Amino acid sequence: MMHHIPPLFPPPRLSPKKSKKEAYPQEFLALEGNLYPLQWKIIKRARRISLHIHPIFNTIIVVVPAPSFQDKGRAFVRQNQAWLLNQLHLAKASPAISFQNGEVVSIVGHRYTICHSPTARRGVWIENHKIYVSGETSFLSRRVYDFLKTHAYTIIYPRLRTLSEEHGLPFKKLSITETVSRWGSCSSTGAIRLSWRLILAPELILHYVMSHELAHTQHLNHGPLFWQLVDKLAPNRKEAELWLKKHGLALLKAGKP
Ligand SMILES: [Zn+2]
Repeated sequence: MMHHIPPLFPPPRLSPKKSKKEAYPQEFLALEGNLYPLQWKIIKRARRISLHIHPIFNTIIVVVPAPSFQDKGRAFVRQNQAWLLNQLHLAKASPAISFQNGEVVSIVGHRYTICHSPTARRGVWIENHKIYVSGETSFLSRRVYDFLKTHAYTIIYPRLRTLSEEHGLPFKKLSITETVSRWGSCSSTGAIRLSWRLILAPELILHYVMSHELAHTQHLNHGPLFWQLVDKLAPNRKEAELWLKKHGLALLKAGKP
């Protein structure tokens, strides 16, 4: 059993390859004079119809358990037009943080400027509030991305360990993930998974998500005892949840073209 914190926009992965599942003609949904691509996604184990917005492509994704659910899916889209519009507006309003030369990246609340050093031979490194990146311009963004993803473990692990020891809540291991459908999860064996993108948020936010997942090592549910424990570990929970709602999309978009 897995428990997780879903971000505001949980977009399923878009497969770039054409598969049998996508053998539908391209559909568009007209909302307030704009046409948005609508994509069907068949997931057999889906228990219900659900709608998602891909935060980068502004595509509306309708998840259905089988192709025969398309009529119901269309009705569901019609019922949820107001919600869709709101999500699409939010997606447009969140600017993407790009990983280009001169851009500023915030890592647990500290700001670092990306500095391209094409002739350096050291890869990517942090010095004096700068992220130095060697190599060609065309690989710059990708190198920063790879660096941050790896760097996330060294930032998150010691914090998680301290929190775990302070409160006597042992966990089995930490994995750093790239999933856009959740910020974190905790398995019944105590394995914690956290999105690397949490390092782009302020300390308080990372602290809350770590606390949330650590509390799941004791309570594999979202019952009153679970929330009681979370509140003990992270008294600013409400503030953190609000922040994630407001800025979560920007974190998911960071470094994407
Ligand atoms: Zn949870």
